[in-house]
Parts: sequence; structure tokens; C-alpha cells
Amino acid sequence: MSLRLIKLLSFFFAFVLIFSFLHSNPSDETYDIVIKNGFIIDGTGNPWFKGDVGIKDKKILKIGSIDGNRARRVIDAQDLIVCPGFIDIHTHCDRRILQVPTVDNYIYQGVTTVLGGNCGGHPFPLSSLFQRLEEKGTSINFGCLVGHNTIRREVMGDKMSSPTRDEMNKMIALIEQEMKAGALGFSTGLSYLPGTYSKTDELIELASAAARYRGIYATHLRDQGLHITEAIEEAIEIGENNNMPVQISHIKLADDAVWNEIEKITKPIEDARQRGAEVTIDQYPYTATSSGLTSSFPSWAFEGGRKEFLKRLEDKKNYQKIKAYVIKRRLTSTKGIDKPESIYIARSSKFPGYEGKNLKKLLLLQGKEPTVENAADLIIEIERNGGASCVFFQMDEKDVEALMKLSYNMHASDGGVQVVGKGVPHPRNYGTFPRVIGFYVRKKGIVSLEDAVRKMTSFPAQVLRLKKRGLIKEGAYADLAIFNFNTFEDKATFKNPHQYARGLAYVIVNGEVVVDEGKHTGKLSGMILYGKGKI
Ligand SMILES: [Zn+2]
Repeated sequence: MSLRLIKLLSFFFAFVLIFSFLHSNPSDETYDIVIKNGFIIDGTGNPWFKGDVGIKDKKILKIGSIDGNRARRVIDAQDLIVCPGFIDIHTHCDRRILQVPTVDNYIYQGVTTVLGGNCGGHPFPLSSLFQRLEEKGTSINFGCLVGHNTIRREVMGDKMSSPTRDEMNKMIALIEQEMKAGALGFSTGLSYLPGTYSKTDELIELASAAARYRGIYATHLRDQGLHITEAIEEAIEIGENNNMPVQISHIKLADDAVWNEIEKITKPIEDARQRGAEVTIDQYPYTATSSGLTSSFPSWAFEGGRKEFLKRLEDKKNYQKIKAYVIKRRLTSTKGIDKPESIYIARSSKFPGYEGKNLKKLLLLQGKEPTVENAADLIIEIERNGGASCVFFQMDEKDVEALMKLSYNMHASDGGVQVVGKGVPHPRNYGTFPRVIGFYVRKKGIVSLEDAVRKMTSFPAQVLRLKKRGLIKEGAYADLAIFNFNTFEDKATFKNPHQYARGLAYVIVNGEVVVDEGKHTGKLSGMILYGKGKI
């Protein structure tokens, strides 16, 4: 080999070395996905800005101006909003997530994270749900709370009395077990069974077990009507005693006797926040509630379980007492509202023909007068035959809007995973998040788009201490919703709830495209969000 050739070759190799070194420079990174030209709303509440988002290995690698040639896939978001995927802090998705792991009714709203185990109920033991979910996979990020009703029933059955020391110890041990399985906090459902039997002391001590693992306290209040202030004060007392964040679930003035008295909610919460207690609330954007018909009955009627309830109905005196309670709780209005007309059957296994109809209509169909008395008898008859889940129109639109403006309020659905076409569920299951944007931001102008996005992304993430979600920032998980602001809206109605929103273009969960040009891809890229107690 000539000297000249050796020189030439070594020059060539040196060049190759320098060239490959230059190409390992992070500024020349390649991306799994680059989203180009979107209006980025980052979740902080700040106004939108124009830019590209580069995604690699589940996370947001870069925000700014990015060369699309460096991406395996480019999504053109021209004229579209790019924001963090919505985080729903209040759901019951724990119930059917294994049956429908694609969680279509949430994914199609742009929701990328849901929290289950609310209102005092969760699948016990949590470790087995988590294990099956890890094996099966899901399209959505999922975290779960440990529910007080579940734990109390596990230890005490349907006993009405206060727990003995031994029962308390057993409940604490079970809560610790669930926190170690990865629960994110403790929830109560104090107008449900058997939670309604518990006193504040019991709840303070049980919540302390979750606080030790840095969990939150989320509560369905004991009362959402005349005594809502006392119920909120009880929740705050439980949180303050344990120095833990308090999340008040599905906030509302649910009795026309207290409509337009929003200070019954804001006063105790703002006083507590002033003292330094971390209290926040969530709300679904509708004037109707939904829950089991059982919630219309006095708690003593169910002591000892359903069998005892059926026995009590056979006793005339008890029947009248129960009926009087049902009338007072569900069928009385101080504002002249026709209550039998405001209660709809959503789902009933014994009476599927009732689904979608209100009590007034059902009574007329049965050839009866639609009186309050007859409506109460019908409610008892349905409950006697296994019950039903119902939709109750019991809020005032003015209150819904006033609550929406509070800075410490966030949006959540209070829904669950749905099987398309089954029953006539509350439309919140399909429409909550697009409704906030389509109806309350775009049509009514109640809040700004950026603030609505904050309340559905970084704010719930902050309460749950999810440090890498709910924001579009470099290093965060790539959970994104991309939609057309001019068309994004809910289509689900009370009559016809099984309808997905329109205007949603893409959903990305942990860097994978789960909704592609408006269609669910079936990708199961969701992660389980374990709490700090997880061992
Ligand atoms: Zn609830």
C-alpha cells in the first residue's frame, strides 16, 4: 500500500468518526411521533402557543420547532388544539375496566387517565385487579382508591353499630394492605351503605392509615342538600386531623331547598383553605345526578342486609315509615317541581322495559295517577325487586355554572366504563369533557379554554401528585388529546346517551396513538398508576 493511500484512508476513517460523533448529538435525535403546527395548550392555564411536540419512548422529548423528517410518524395538527390528555379524578372505572379494556367511552372524550375506587367502593383486594389489568392491558392510565364501604362490609358486614376496637384494627390492616398494593388514597360514600352508619371518629382514624402512605381523602359527602355545610366540615375535619389533601367529590346543591346558596359550599372550603387545609372539589357539567335507587331509602331499612329489608317491607308500620322517608328524600319540592317526572330509570335487570322512562310516565302507563304517593310505592316496588340505577334531575343550571368558575374546582365525570348500547346511563359517561369545552367554553363562555383545560389536566394531576402527567412539558409522559376547538362537543343526551363526542382527532397515551383520525386503534398503552405505598 502506498503511503498516500494510507494517509487517504486514515483521513477517511477520521472523517467517519467525527461524522458519527456529530450524529449522536441529542439535537439530532429521532422521534417516534412529531405533532406539527398545533395550538399548544400546556395545561398550566397559560394561553396557547404555536409549536411542535416531539415524542420518543413514551415521553415528550422536545417542544418547539422540530424537523418532521426526523420522525417515524408526523401528525399534522394544523388548526387543532394539542393539550394534555384529560385526567378524570372521579370515576367508577374499576368496575368494568377488565370487561372493556379499551375503555372507549373515556378514550373518545380525550381522557387518558382515570381514577377509580370512588364513593367508598373498590374491587377487593386491589392487588388482584392490578395483576389482572397488568396481564390484560388497558388503553387508559388507571389509578384506584381504597373504599371505606368495601372495607367496612368486609370486616363488619351490614352492621349499623360503631366498630369495636378489634374491628377497627382489622379495617386499618386492610386499608394498609390496599395502600401497599398501590392505592392512591381513601374514599368514602357516606350516603351509601354501610358508610352512612359510620361516625366521624371512625373515619378520622381509618383515613390516617391512608395518610401514612401519602394518600388523599376523597369523599362523597353525607349530605348534598340542606346539611351540605356540615357534611363539608366533616370532610375537612377528617383531612385536617391527618394532614392529608381532601377531595370533595361531585360537588352540587342537590336539593331545590338550597338552590342558589353556593356559599353553603364556598364558605367552609375557603375558610379551610385560608387556614392551610388543602381542600379541592370536582364537578360534572350536568344538572342531573345518577345513582342507585337504594339511595332514596333510610339507612336503617337495610340494617342486616337485603333479606332484612324485604322482611321490614312486610310490616305495615315499617312500610309506612319507609314510604314517608322516600317521599321526603326524593319526592318533595319546595319550588313546585314535579318530582315523579324528574326521576328516570337508567338500568334495571328486573324491569328493562322501564329503562329511559320517568316515574310519572311509568305510573301513567300502569293506569295510575302520577301522585307522589303512587311514585313512592313504585320506588319501593322496584327496590323490592332488586333495584335500579336512576337519573335524578335535581340541580339548578345557575349553580352548575357558578361552581364551574371556582379556581379550586375541577371537572370529573362520576361515570364508569360502559358497554355500548347497554341501559340508558347518564350522558356524563360519554360527554363530560367535550361538554365542558363545547358547551361551557365555546357556546356559553363560562370559563376560558385554557382554564377549562387546566381543570381537566394539571389540576387533578397536582392533587394526585402525578408529577409527570397533566402537562405538556419536556420529560412528561406523552398523554395528549388533539381536537378541533370549533367542533369538539358532546353528543350523548339523556334520551340517547351511547354516543361519542365529535371533533376529537387524536389521543395519545404514553406515546402510542390510541385514537387515530377519530378512530380507536385498540392500542393498550395505558399504565397502572401506583401510589407511594406500593411495595
Ligand atoms: Zn358518589
